[in-house]
Amino acid sequence: DPAVNGKRQHEGRRNPQTSIPVHLLKKRDELLVSRRTLPIWPHAQSIRDALRKTNILVLTGETGSGKSTQVPQFLLDESWCTKAIAVTQPRRVAAISLARRVAEEMGSFFGGQSPAAKVGYSVRFDNASGPNTKIKFLTEGMLLQEMLRDPDMNQYSAVIVDEVHERSVNVDLILGFLKNLASGVERTGKKRRTPLKIVVMSATADVEGLVQFFGQDQDQSAVPPAEEGLLKANSLISICFVEGRQYPVRTTYLPEASMDWVESALKLIFQIHYKEPLPGDVLVFLTGQDKIESLQKLVNDYAEGMDKDVPRLLVLPLFAALSQPAQQLIFQPTPHRARKVILATNIAETSVTVPGVRFVIDCGKSKIKQFRSKLGLESLLAKPISKSAAIQRRGRAGREGPGQCYRLYTEADYKTFEERTIPEILRCDLMQALLTMKARGVNNVLGFPFLDRPPRDALEKALFQLLRLGALEKIGAISDIGLKIAKLPVTPTLGRILIEAAKPERDCLLDVIDIIAALSTEDNIFFNIVSEERKEEAEAARHELYRREGDHMTFLATVQRYAEENSDRKAWCERHFVSHRAMQNIMNIRKQLRQQCQSLKLLNSAEATTTSTTPNVDAILACLLRGFVSNTARLMPDNSYRTFIGNYTVSIHPSSVMHGRKVKAEAIVFSEFLYTNKAYAKKVSAVQMNWVEDVVKEVWNV
Ligand code: ADP
Repeated sequence: DPAVNGKRQHEGRRNPQTSIPVHLLKKRDELLVSRRTLPIWPHAQSIRDALRKTNILVLTGETGSGKSTQVPQFLLDESWCTKAIAVTQPRRVAAISLARRVAEEMGSFFGGQSPAAKVGYSVRFDNASGPNTKIKFLTEGMLLQEMLRDPDMNQYSAVIVDEVHERSVNVDLILGFLKNLASGVERTGKKRRTPLKIVVMSATADVEGLVQFFGQDQDQSAVPPAEEGLLKANSLISICFVEGRQYPVRTTYLPEASMDWVESALKLIFQIHYKEPLPGDVLVFLTGQDKIESLQKLVNDYAEGMDKDVPRLLVLPLFAALSQPAQQLIFQPTPHRARKVILATNIAETSVTVPGVRFVIDCGKSKIKQFRSKLGLESLLAKPISKSAAIQRRGRAGREGPGQCYRLYTEADYKTFEERTIPEILRCDLMQALLTMKARGVNNVLGFPFLDRPPRDALEKALFQLLRLGALEKIGAISDIGLKIAKLPVTPTLGRILIEAAKPERDCLLDVIDIIAALSTEDNIFFNIVSEERKEEAEAARHELYRREGDHMTFLATVQRYAEENSDRKAWCERHFVSHRAMQNIMNIRKQLRQQCQSLKLLNSAEATTTSTTPNVDAILACLLRGFVSNTARLMPDNSYRTFIGNYTVSIHPSSVMHGRKVKAEAIVFSEFLYTNKAYAKKVSAVQMNWVEDVVKEVWNV
């Protein structure tokens, strides 16, 4: 077939010098044209100069100015850059899509495609980088894990810490570690022969804070912020401002508060679509996947009824758990005579720049992690955003021309918003952060250089929790168990459960890995079914997987049945109303957890490849209890559940297989806690009262 041969020949044609296929080089040259128009482009030389003179650069520039994609490429050919450059991202979506983009811009292979790939990424449970990777995008969590294994970061010439304004806990930890490394406070392993170059990038202009942070305890005082576009440096820290390119955006508020903002958003989408000329895409900020999916369905339903001569609406969701191909769709040019409507979480606020947007609809809320210290539990809550987040969201409409922002709240509501988002470190469970610090040899955590210092009692509480898990010795140093937990890519609680399961008297690690893999995937195994008839059908089909002992054993049964299925796993999932994507994901996590347990000597290589036999339910539940000791509750005479610790009422979530049972278990353990209008235990197992009492006693005696 000449056509096929022609294609093959074309793909096979290579530039003799570099042996990169010609189509990659062509794409690279095309992209160079648009790269040259990015606001950061004229700053390339001053950024290079800054890092020749100093080791630390603080760089701010509006979202979309080209920081994440261009800065690593500017530095690649510098003489000091003999090793790789790390670029951290708060979200895995952004890490992967940036790596793909930068590979294209460089005309390079991508990630795992070829050992010659210069650009790669590393996110939890997915590493696409190798010895030839020169630019590596990684999530903050992965960089922290690497910092535990390679304390001096010998594989890197530079670390670029991106999206610092998001102020995740992990970014605060990274900044603290880097500061210690740069100022020589932290002495770990072998000393580096060449200094590590550090670039800190942010979309908002809190430069002073960052410069002060790195300048403290140094012999030079911090430099005052420079004028826009200018670059000033002292011997330690350089500063660079990239002026934004922002067109005016008109803001409209609701005249009165809306009870149902999904409906308000729906109305606005069609109002814009009928009234406003093309092109002009719409970006809607919503709180999470559930709201996105229900709005997506509504818009598509209404769009079916549109006249034939009305342009098409192309509805695209954007949230963290979305598959890669689906995420890439938002970067595709909008088809002719169509309008894109992107339904996003706050991921589109600064992390991912969506092209073509002229209209923004902002619900004014986002889901944030909130630690309820009285309960000792962390949950995700939809809360009002801050003014600075609302301004960022509005700004997304004015990147390519004048735009319009519709706020689904009143102006009076806006005035009640906080000025800026409270950093995560001040409102989350600090257990993981403290364990990472301890594992890195920070003994006095109270003296750690925090950008924002958490309250002392929050730190002490977290230390106490770690002590209870057995991750710390009584004197506060990290224990052997703690060191192992810190090296596992799961929360300390889940890590502790894995360690427990590896004990000879428990001997149920393979099963527990399956359960933890199921708990670690972001997709729902048993996805929500909207239509009533389908619901009944699904319940019947899923019934054989449901286990009396609760959700965890149900997950185990599902994973094991899926793993045994040798013919058509996809068809099996369809028959059982189980998400195939979730299951594929779980199998991948399970494989990696097995490998990691093997390298920590929790598993031997023979075991790591076996399939498990009949599960020992009692042992498995005992392991779960050892970790989730705070997430336990007992049945009260009035049929409600009260937590053992804190004595709070929790209800079993409707998604649990334990929901609505006539005969109630005397005690429960749960691995997820949800607070909406009331407190819910999600992912629940039945346990015996005396087991809980035993563990509670054990951990209380430490
Ligand atoms: P910043 O880091 O300053 O927010 P970026 O470097 O992320 O800016 O983005 C620069 C430009 O590259 C933007 O116009 C953005 O739309 C584009 N871009 C970034 N990632 C991708 C991608 N995966 N596919 C297509 N375009 C992208």
